[in-house]
Amino acid sequence: MKYKIVNINDTGDRSVLIIYTGGTFGMVQDTSGALAPFNFGKVVDRVPELRQLDIKLTVISFPKPIDSSNIGIQDWKDMAYIIEENYTQYDAFVILHGTDTMAYSASMLSYMLQGLNKPVIFTGAQMPIGSIRSDARENLITALEIASSHQNGVPTVSEVCVYFNFLLLRGSRSQKLRSSTFAAFESENYPLLAEAGIEIEFNYPALKSFDPSGKLKVINDLNPNVTILKIFPGITEHTVKSILSNPEIQGVVLESYGSGNTMKFDWFIQYLSEAINEGKIILNVSQCIGGEVEQGRYETSKKLNDIGVLSGGDITTEAAITKMMFLLGTENDKGKLKHGLTHTLAGEMDLVQD
Ligand code: ASP
Repeated sequence: MKYKIVNINDTGDRSVLIIYTGGTFGMVQDTSGALAPFNFGKVVDRVPELRQLDIKLTVISFPKPIDSSNIGIQDWKDMAYIIEENYTQYDAFVILHGTDTMAYSASMLSYMLQGLNKPVIFTGAQMPIGSIRSDARENLITALEIASSHQNGVPTVSEVCVYFNFLLLRGSRSQKLRSSTFAAFESENYPLLAEAGIEIEFNYPALKSFDPSGKLKVINDLNPNVTILKIFPGITEHTVKSILSNPEIQGVVLESYGSGNTMKFDWFIQYLSEAINEGKIILNVSQCIGGEVEQGRYETSKKLNDIGVLSGGDITTEAAITKMMFLLGTENDKGKLKHGLTHTLAGEMDLVQD
């Protein structure tokens, strides 16, 4: 793929590569009045402050910036490839990305970038940079400040994060919860990594610690044959069957109620059980944004344990579905696959005691 590269600023003792993928951040209205992404050259004109920051800045842009609703596996591979190719030349990476699927991309990149020891900060905006009240400028400038923050030669942040509306969140814990306020993202099950006010207050105990021996290894074998089964009262046998008996599907994220409860109808348990016996992996995550799955706490989830449904603990759906694609792509051993799904890989779920 041919990427466009623009140097924005050459001075400063830290260097950041901005990867521009698209999103509302850089959108303008097209002739029909709908918002569509435009190229980054115009974005820089809108944020002249970028040239005044004491950070060496380069932008690499997707050849055709996209609305993040169009993100797919190849785009994740492209982002990981750009980071891998430029890893030694830059101190940090900021990915400008649409908000709609940012939590999925941040989760996936946190799995793909094994041994990461530098900041990879996703950000974007709810309003295009061209609008007077846009949140784009603040989000980008503070993301760059966080990305370039370091102490004693060591980056303050050495993981994949989302920075949005004054909050720095662990990428694999983030979720887009609101579409019509600036406070779009939260990580209900994990503390904030930092909060930006007059100062940027880092929450050091919550940040992944820097590993001096960490070496980046990009893993990009991803398996797309996964799906999400979200249950609801009144869901029909036919719907459940059509999802669980699909021969292409190898992994299912089961979105259950509350602390991991589902209906205990015989037909439902039967379809789940058949799918597991056919070799499919089923991971139970909650529809609630906070709290965790505790299979066996209620009678309605005890059966799930018995038939071999795996508990996703406090993982988000975004982190669960991307983790399935990642682990089904990289792990052939069933035991290791199940272990991987129920244990933390990139800080996406609480530690589980064996
Ligand atoms: N549809 C846009 C996108 O995800 C929304 C946004 O960027 O806020 O690319």
